[in-house]
This record gives sequence, structure tokens and C-alpha cells, in this order.
Amino acid sequence: MLPVRYDPSVSEPKWQAYWKKPEVYKAAFAFDPSGKPYVIDTPPPFTSGEPHMGTVYFTIIVDTLARYKRARGYSVLLPQGWDTHGLPTELRVQYDLKVDKSNVSRFRKACRDFTRTTIESIKSGMIAVGYRPDWEAYEYTTDDPDYIKAVQLSLILMYKAGLVYRKKFPVYWCPHCGTVVSQAEVGYVEREGVLAYVRFRGADGSPGLVVATTRPELLYACVGVFVSPKDDRYSSMVGKEVKVPLGGWTVKVMADDAVDMSFGTGAVMVATFGDEQDIRWQLKYSLPIRQVVDQDGRMKDAGELTGLKLTEARKKALDILKEVGLLERLVPIRHNVLSHTERQSCMNPVEFIPLDQLMIKMSFMKDIVMRGAEGMAWHPALMLERVRAWHDSLEWDWVISRQRVFGTPLPFWVCADCGELIPAKEADLPVDPSVQSPPVPACPACGSKNLIGVKDVADGWVDSSITPLWITGFFKNKELFEKLYPVDVRQQGYEIIRTWFWYSAFRGIALTGRPPFKSVLVNGMILAPDGKPMSKSRGNVINPLDAVRQYGADPLRYGLLSLTVGADFPFRWEAVKRGRALLQKIWSAYRLVSSLPVVPVEEPPSVGSPLDHWILQRLAETEVSYTKAMDDFRFNEALDAFVQFFWHDLCDDYLESAKPRASQGDPDVMKTLGFVFRSSLSLFAPFLPHLAEEIYQDLGWGKEPSVHAVPWPQQPAYSTVMAKRGGSLLTLISRVRSAKVAHGFSLGQRVSWAELSFDEDVDPAELSHLISDVLRIDQVKVRKGPFSVEFGPGEQRSKPRAYG
Ligand SMILES: [Zn+2]
Ligand SMILES: [Zn+2]
Repeated sequence: MLPVRYDPSVSEPKWQAYWKKPEVYKAAFAFDPSGKPYVIDTPPPFTSGEPHMGTVYFTIIVDTLARYKRARGYSVLLPQGWDTHGLPTELRVQYDLKVDKSNVSRFRKACRDFTRTTIESIKSGMIAVGYRPDWEAYEYTTDDPDYIKAVQLSLILMYKAGLVYRKKFPVYWCPHCGTVVSQAEVGYVEREGVLAYVRFRGADGSPGLVVATTRPELLYACVGVFVSPKDDRYSSMVGKEVKVPLGGWTVKVMADDAVDMSFGTGAVMVATFGDEQDIRWQLKYSLPIRQVVDQDGRMKDAGELTGLKLTEARKKALDILKEVGLLERLVPIRHNVLSHTERQSCMNPVEFIPLDQLMIKMSFMKDIVMRGAEGMAWHPALMLERVRAWHDSLEWDWVISRQRVFGTPLPFWVCADCGELIPAKEADLPVDPSVQSPPVPACPACGSKNLIGVKDVADGWVDSSITPLWITGFFKNKELFEKLYPVDVRQQGYEIIRTWFWYSAFRGIALTGRPPFKSVLVNGMILAPDGKPMSKSRGNVINPLDAVRQYGADPLRYGLLSLTVGADFPFRWEAVKRGRALLQKIWSAYRLVSSLPVVPVEEPPSVGSPLDHWILQRLAETEVSYTKAMDDFRFNEALDAFVQFFWHDLCDDYLESAKPRASQGDPDVMKTLGFVFRSSLSLFAPFLPHLAEEIYQDLGWGKEPSVHAVPWPQQPAYSTVMAKRGGSLLTLISRVRSAKVAHGFSLGQRVSWAELSFDEDVDPAELSHLISDVLRIDQVKVRKGPFSVEFGPGEQRSKPRAYG
């Protein structure tokens, strides 16, 4: 007999520990390559912080999916990786732990130690919500030597396919963080600024024209002036030379369609490199390069501005222009400034700096990647539009080198004389060219012995974008790879579609010729209760582990899974409380059943009563809508279908009317209850895994070591005709119940007699029996006719009896 109250705080840690036992792991959670595989590519979280709602949310989604698929007969591969490398980790180790970066090997070790601590903390948070991936065989970290080897091999394969090259290229550079950032890491931030109207006099002494710019310090990098070919104001100027203020040299006035006639004066200057348009024009018109910003964000080769920080240089440039009479006016504006937006703690403007970088050719493949994405099943379908928008805006190749320390070493050497790129030998991987000697004595292109190891490390997305290849065995086990690739589902948040999704799709296609995913499940964000993103500075962060401590992991799972996957939702304590109430409802129902001589049956019963047929039909219908919803990742709809069935159909209707028969030991009811409750266990086990295990183990309802190793229940058989009659019986009971209340009786109050007429197709004897048992009416007379009911006198209300 189960205790009256279910206590998650006692039950949940117990089962989390139980699921670690080797025999339970083997029976329920281990991936068995010989089975029918179902592969989930889960996000490896950054290991720079604490477990938070986002991590817990994806964890709950994939855990529920995996438990469901296992029950459906799949051998589920649910791996869990950790994305350890990255700037955030370096910054925390450098600034929070105050480890000196100049000793590289010590610094790397400090980073590794730091990530091991954070992994343990995030992992314990994941386990506390019931997450059970295949820790034993499929946990990985991106700084494992094996994983580094795989990343390096993937780069060498791409190099051999002609996709990796080295080039001086204007890259997004964050002077604040001191590193290259990718296109995916930058965004526009609205800032206050001034628009300076600066006169460029004609080289021939004519008045020339006025250019409006927010970056007057970049006059030192000016290599041309553009106007629109449609702009009559400047048609006579096109082709003429004008003098660059500050710099003093002359540049040509050119016409190009990309000029926005309505901005400023309609004449713009090109500086190398002020913005993306400048890069386009520099390439299109082969303009010279004048690099005036260095990697610390200071001016260089810029006359009087040399050595100044950009903001100081901007002020000084305006002062000089004013002095020499070339500043026509200054207009304050709010404008969008390209900034390092991927890091909330930075958000500083980024600059373009031409640097020697390792690049991967990606832009030429963007249509192929897009077609690959279109061939995947997207959940929700609209998320594909985000991929398309990214595809349409993508212009550059992928800069994969990062001027950092804690990262995967790029497996290349460079010839100092001719610039040839020399890859490591595959047999030598993993390598660290910053300290190891080159694989060849001399440059294969020019014979020079002056070979220098690349000191930069790989962009973190280079590591994490091979996860679908890593988990399917691409680097180690080709036979397994053929069986597992492409993976069944990639689960991730929408905010990393431009990065993790795009890079993984690209690399999967580039390395194997095939897209890496059959379907993509994209979740939204759990916002704070105030509807804003959770952030420490706003003080609105909900720690998911507080919800676990207060209500339990299963109620939190219920609260998060009752949302539609894909949209953003504010966190609602109400939903968690509803989950807690559902747990108790399920518990009480099993408690009642456990007090009866019910045995769980796996074979669907063939039963006689219309009510039994009705509940079996409802179970069968629920299973159909439940499995369809689960197979489409509509978890909330599956959960709704289960709750509607269990709470209303089973507990409110069937169980109420079955109690009298059950107390008489009617074998049909016992079999039906046994089968229905046994099946229900399978329906809620993926969502409420701890509760399901507790009930399964307490009732001793199976031979498997865990409820999560129990196969999916068989569909019950029933007679539709009988089920319809059962439904009619329940409808009549419910109408008489309402009438009893309307006549001023309480539900538990005994009534001496009732006369009932009805025109439904049910057995009158059965109906009168049921009504007298379930509604406490001593004698029931029934006859055919339009529905009506009359009651005799009821017992004195001063003597209420306990019921039910
Ligand atoms: Zn930055
Ligand atoms: Zn060479």
C-alpha cells in the first residue's frame, strides 16, 4: 500500500541514484548499436557558467523524447558533450581567478581545471531534473585529446578538399576582447553619435563636395568617395579628384548603386575598413588599403592621431577639421554600430582589421547548405525561415582562427617565405604546432626551411560543429557511422541557428556529402515571470534548482513541457504547481488501485461491460493522439491528451463508476483496471520519470529492473458498439448527478428513490444498478422516454456519512 502523500524530495534523488546502477543502465539507458537506432544530437553547453533555466529546459526536452523513444522500441543514443573551449572561460580564468595568461601551459591547465568544476556543477543540475543520457559511453568534452584529434582531422580533410586557406582578410576584431569574432557573433547596437559634414576640396582648387561621416578619424584611411549614379547633384563630380582632409592626398569620386542618396549629403567616403560596404567597394574597385586601426583599438599611421584610442582620435579629428575650416557642421544622431553582441558583457564596437587568418571556404556552398536544411523536417516549421534569412545575409567565408590560448590548436604550419600552408600528418594527431616541429623538413612549395607553427587556436564553433559526426562514429567507426548518420534529430535553441546549426550542416555536408540531420527540433527561451529575458542585472533570474527543491523535478518538467516547443514563454510557478497537483492525483489513483486485488496485465483484456469497453476505447484513442503528438515533438499536446484521459476519463468517470464493481471483486473490472493503469504508467513515464519509477517499483508491477525499460503497451481491443453504450451510461450518470445536486442534495447524501426516463441505447437494468451504486440512490426505476428525473426524500443531512 502506497503512503497517502507522494514526496518528490524523498523519491527523486533515490531514483536518480538507482538509474546509475550498472544493471539498470544496461537495461534502460545504454545505447545498443545492434538495436533499431534513434540518435539525438544534443547541445554541448558552454562550461563557463552555472546550470541555468536554458540548460535545464533542453535537458528536459531531450530526456522526455529519449525515454519515449526507448519505450517505443528504439535503441536511443542520447550523448552529452561539453563545449569547454572559448573566450568566456579564458576571461573568467584570467579576471575572476586572476591566472596570468603569459604562461600558456599553466593558463591552459587552469582553464581545464576550471571547466571540470563547472561541468560537475552543471551536470548535477541536469541530473536533479531527471536527465539520464548515456553518461557511461557517450559523454565527451571538446578539450579531450580524442576530440581535439577529431577536430584537427576534420580540418585536414577540409584542407585536402581545398576548403582551408590563409589570407590577409579584414576580420571583425573586438579591440576590447582582443580577438577576432565571427559574423555570427556581431550585431548592431543603437548608439549616440555625431554626423560630421566634412568638406573635400577639389584637387583643382574647386570647392569640391561635402561628405557626411560618423567616423572622421578614418579620414586617414580614406581611399575614395562614392555618390549615387542617379544623383544629379554630383553628376559633374564623378571621375574628378578630391583632396582628403587631414590626410592631404587625393582620391577619385566614383558612382555606385549602393550609395544611399538620402543619407547625409549623398556623398560617402570609403575607408579601409570602416564597415562591410567599405570591404565590398575595396574588393570591387581594387582600392588601395590604408590600415589605421591596430589590434588594441588605437590609431596607427594616422598623423597627429597616431597612438590615440579611437574615441579620443574621433574628438581630435573634429578639432583639427574645425581649425582648418573643413568642418561644415555637426549633427547628433542615433545610429546602429556594429558591436560584439554575442558577449553580453562586452557589447563594444567591433572594427575591421586585415590580418593573416585561416579561413574555410563557406560562402560558395551556402546554397547547398540551404538545400540541405530544406530537406530536414523542422519543428516548428517556421524556424526554417531563420535559416533562410541567415543564408541570404551570409557573404564571407568562415574565419576559423582565434588569437586565444584555450582552444583546439590549428593543425598547420606556415612557410615564412612563400606563405604555403602545411598540414600536420594524420598519424601525428593531435598536434600543437605552436610548440611542435613541422611534419616536413622544408616547404614543399619553395624549399624554405623557415616553417612556423600556427599559434592561433580554432574558433569554438569549429569544435562544436562536428558533434553529429563525432557521436555517429565518423572519426572512429565507419560501419557504425553508416548506420547512425544522419542523426534522427538535432535539438537546439533558435538563438544558435546562425552558428551551431549552420556550421554543423555545412561541415556535415562538406565532409560526408550528406546533411547531418533528418529533423531539427528548435526550442524557444524560458523568460522571467515578467516576460523579459532572465538576466542577473535585471535580478529576475529563476534558478531551476529552486523549483526542484520547492516542488520537485517532475512538477518542473510538467511546467516546462506543457509549453509549445519553439516559442518564448515566461516562467510560471502556477504551471509547476499544477504539475505537483497532477502528481498527487496520479499517486492517489494508483493508491486506490493498489488497495484492490488488481494485477497489472500486459495482454489487453477481452471484457464484457460497456463501461470497460468505453475506457479501453478512450485509452486506445489517447494512445493514438499521444504517440502522434510525441512523434511530431508536440510534447504539450501529448501531455494534455494524457491528463485529459487520466484525470477525467479514468479517475472522474470510469473509476467512480467502477468502485462498486471493484469492491465486489468483479474480474472484468480488475482486468480492465490492471491493463489501463499499467498502460497509463507508460504514458506518463517520459514526462514524470521519478513518479513512474516509484509506482512501478512500489507496486512490483513488472519484471524489468526499471519502468524505463518497459516496452510500449499493446493497443487494447474493444467493441465500438459496447464502448458507445458505456459512454451513454456515463453521460446518464453524469446528468443524474447534476440533477441530484440541482434538487438540493449533496452528492454523498443517500436518497430513497429516483424515477428516471431516458432515450439512450443502454441496458435499463445495468443503468439502474449503476446509478443506485454510484449515486447512492436506494431504488431506481427507469423507463424509456425523454430525459427526466424525480427524486424521493433524502436522508437527514445532519447524519452525513463518509463516502469513497
Ligand atoms: Zn568584445
Ligand atoms: Zn615556401
